[in-house]
Amino acid sequence: MVKSFFWAITGHLLLIPGSSAVFPWISFMEKYFNRLQHFCLSIFIKKIMNMTNLLYTRFPTREVRAGSLGIGGKNPIRIQSMLTANTLDTLACVKEAKELFDAGCELVRLTAQGPAEAQNLKNIKEMLLADGYTGPLSADIHFSPRTALIALEHVEKVRINPGNYIDKKNFKFIEYTEAQYQNELNEIVEALRPLVNRAKELGRCLRIGTNHGSLSDRIMSRYGDTPEGMVESAMEFLRACEYLDFKDIVVSMKSSNPVVMIRATRLLVENFIAEQMSYPLHLGVTEAGEGIEGRIKSAAGIGALLEDGLGDTIRVSLTEKSVKEIPAARALIAPYEDFHSLPLHHPFREQLKERETIYFNKFRNVKHSLYDTSIIVKVDPEEKPPATIHVKDYLYIQGNTSAKESYILRFHPECRVLCDDDFIILDNKNLLDASLPVSEHSFPAANDKFYLVSANISGMNLTGLHRLASTIPGTENKLVLRIPCHTEEDACYLSPAICAGLLPDLACSALLLDSRNAEHSYSIALTILQALRIRITKADFISCPSCGRTEFDLEETTAKIKARLHHLKGIKIAVMGCIVNGPGEMADADFGYVGASHGKIHLYKGMELVKKNIPSEHALDELISLMKEAGVYHE
Ligand code: SF4
Repeated sequence: MVKSFFWAITGHLLLIPGSSAVFPWISFMEKYFNRLQHFCLSIFIKKIMNMTNLLYTRFPTREVRAGSLGIGGKNPIRIQSMLTANTLDTLACVKEAKELFDAGCELVRLTAQGPAEAQNLKNIKEMLLADGYTGPLSADIHFSPRTALIALEHVEKVRINPGNYIDKKNFKFIEYTEAQYQNELNEIVEALRPLVNRAKELGRCLRIGTNHGSLSDRIMSRYGDTPEGMVESAMEFLRACEYLDFKDIVVSMKSSNPVVMIRATRLLVENFIAEQMSYPLHLGVTEAGEGIEGRIKSAAGIGALLEDGLGDTIRVSLTEKSVKEIPAARALIAPYEDFHSLPLHHPFREQLKERETIYFNKFRNVKHSLYDTSIIVKVDPEEKPPATIHVKDYLYIQGNTSAKESYILRFHPECRVLCDDDFIILDNKNLLDASLPVSEHSFPAANDKFYLVSANISGMNLTGLHRLASTIPGTENKLVLRIPCHTEEDACYLSPAICAGLLPDLACSALLLDSRNAEHSYSIALTILQALRIRITKADFISCPSCGRTEFDLEETTAKIKARLHHLKGIKIAVMGCIVNGPGEMADADFGYVGASHGKIHLYKGMELVKKNIPSEHALDELISLMKEAGVYHE
């Protein structure tokens, strides 16, 4: 009977997505089982029972249909993207939408900034249908309930922004009485009523899409631009829709800061659980940028939440051709292909609670600062240290102390060198121990060594790693997280996701990116830490993905701006395609470069518009003058 229990558990483990270590893990468990069954069967069972909570599962959501496409419930994670073509240019939109559908995109969004664009969705939809493209379209609406109503007639889904659907943003702090606040909530119900009624008649769905950068004055006045404010912004609209008896809704919490977006989404789910809601979740990091940085930022936010078991549809927004978003999204969801076949239950809540308890009890008040996270770069004993390595970082030589000493003698690195003798490697056995009361642990003392934990220790979810890290005695300054970085997929998607899921809540001394290319892994580690705002080593760029409103070539312009300003450590620069949403969505950027009209740029210092309608050929020089005046520019 005990054996059947063992196989019931390990059989379940076969379903763990992305777990390359499942089979070794099972054979390890079997060996472990055989060894222990004669001695301490009860302890083993206790450990297994404690570990079932660490198995990968998903947060159960209701199914919502966008035309023929099911989102949430038992459906696979859906991939979506957004057109960059002008919505009034029917042929360009149809061409781009076809490219996206052909590449595997399952839902295509278009901006509809006004009634004319919303009306043209009809032509776009009809041309796509005539050519056999039946995939659903979604309209992106800001500011205008009237535009949303027109769009709803022609496309399967409409996204509204609760920050500006009704409220006009004046960037004012308002002191509300309870009655005034309630009055505004009632206005939301009335403003949504026509849209919701028509959506019911037509069988359409909506997305309540909160953006960190465009919260209403009401929310800002009461909650500030916090994850709590983002969640409440969506909850107000969800409660209004439920009052109107409408539940065909997808919800998103987006921010250009992956940590904010992760916290807001987790908090949203906590609110769902408290209010018995189960809406599908759309995940995305806004204004992530382009290239490897854009992919890392997106993966940090989206990947960490997928690891939590959250997320029913994703968009990787890149400042590149929209079709390039699709392989990036595919790579991110690849480890979860079997996601939908997993049993649905609610481990998320317990896992989150456990992690929060660990964080508050163990790590919150440690002297070690998260901002000290060092990087350990693996180098070949014959290889010179990377030229750019910072003195606070480490090199790691595979081998013993004598290999380390001969490396130091040979290359005289400026930073510290570590070798295998400097680590205590924690493995699956330690993970099993971590499930027991402290008195039953058998962790070796660290003394002057570091504990090394591999992120793929057993295919367990991130809670397992939190549990392990929290259980080891005296880990505060001793924990090194080893993360695979052998392929481009590891570097761009897996590593940032694991780091984002662990680092903001865990006092981790250092990251060891396991790769054969020292320079590359060092630069990836720096980019990940920058994306998580744990360690800032260069300028931070927020660039919108562009859409039908964009006033200039975002990809080319962003590349030019980056080339001249990337060295300005700690300065946050937003490059936004239009003045309609750009200023609202560039969040806490220090400087903004925003498309005003064709060939004209507005420049912002913080939220203040300081230079208007600058011809685009002079705009970058003007931005640099502005930075010089502010004393933040240097060559
Ligand atoms: S800021 Fe960029 S993505 Fe957002 S609406 Fe304007 S052009 Fe489109």
